[in-house]
Amino acid sequence: MSGPRIEADLVKLRHNARIVVERLKAQGISVSAVTKAVCGEPAIAQAMLEGGAANLADARLRNVRKLRKAGITCPITLLRTPMLSQTNEVVTLCEASYNTEIAVISALAAAAIRCGTVHNVILMVEMGDLREGIMPKNLPNVVQQVEDMPGVILAGIGANFACLSGIPPDAAKMRALSRLASATERQCARPLQTISGGNSATLPWALSGTSAGRINNLRIGEAILLGVAPVSGDRINGLFTDAFTLVAEVIETDTKPASPVNNMTDPAWLRDRFTRASENGRRLIIALGHQDTDVSGLAMPAGYGLVGVTSDHLVVSTTDASLEVGSKVSFQMNYSAFMRAMAAPDIETILLHDIRAGHARDGEAFGKQLVHV
Ligand SMILES: *Cc1c(COP(=O)(O)O)cnc(C)c1O
Repeated sequence: MSGPRIEADLVKLRHNARIVVERLKAQGISVSAVTKAVCGEPAIAQAMLEGGAANLADARLRNVRKLRKAGITCPITLLRTPMLSQTNEVVTLCEASYNTEIAVISALAAAAIRCGTVHNVILMVEMGDLREGIMPKNLPNVVQQVEDMPGVILAGIGANFACLSGIPPDAAKMRALSRLASATERQCARPLQTISGGNSATLPWALSGTSAGRINNLRIGEAILLGVAPVSGDRINGLFTDAFTLVAEVIETDTKPASPVNNMTDPAWLRDRFTRASENGRRLIIALGHQDTDVSGLAMPAGYGLVGVTSDHLVVSTTDASLEVGSKVSFQMNYSAFMRAMAAPDIETILLHDIRAGHARDGEAFGKQLVHV
């Protein structure tokens, strides 16, 4: 094992998925496990399916291709409205997609007919995040067009919250979504299969003890992967927040002066870099940088301070005297740091407790420790 890596603990992931799935099941809500932050890594998708997720969802076709190539056959829904240029591939790789544009839905329908299949369309409705979605007043019109279009089936409606605006859904918005679902069913004179109430940001609402109304699905990535509620950043009770760890290597340990002697540099820039450095600690350079992750989303280990970061060098201060060149330092990540590190070409993903690789016994031993959580 060499170079920077993300260690993914599949036992912890399965546990997180199972807890989220069970809690939502009690509310009549299924879980679509979202794999975009892990770039469609098949073993991680598999762990979430083993935890009870009903199906998978991803925003990018490249990730879906990777999942299919690895032999994953469960239904996969494309989360981001398909690019017009990719509709052919969407209908061959995905059972369903979230849609907002009738031009795209028409192209999906034509592609499905050419392929001899029928594609499931879930209409995304705008409920306040002001990212993607059909305005509620336009929904009946779009519903009718989809209903009248061979090659596609209207499988449901959905909404997304807290992505662009950062505002989580409230009970009134969720009730409004339920009303839209019922109105759409009346219009179509049949029940809708999927009424998807949002992403991890909708989880607190779903678990707050209120009635879920007509909502029967959530699309969950972050809450399962990182064990936190996205808007507050708070740990979700009973979940692991350390299923993923970023591990990187120390490449220099020489102590440098605490602030640079060069006074030509912009003082604001210097303040940003150097005020957080510990006065007494040693300075280390770790082989990690802006090109690998969102460094502002890394949690510094206890006793560490962030001095500064450039494309390829992470400078930290530390009180740990034992570190030397070649030592490994581990970081926990927020969502932004995590998804960028997962996508970084120089960071390898190491699967811990991968049953497929014959490490089942590790997993079992670990499973016993879960009792203490
Ligand atoms: C990314 C995304 C999700 C999953 O979001 P998490 O916060 O990771 O749960 C769900 N729905 C849509 C449309 C998305 O783009």
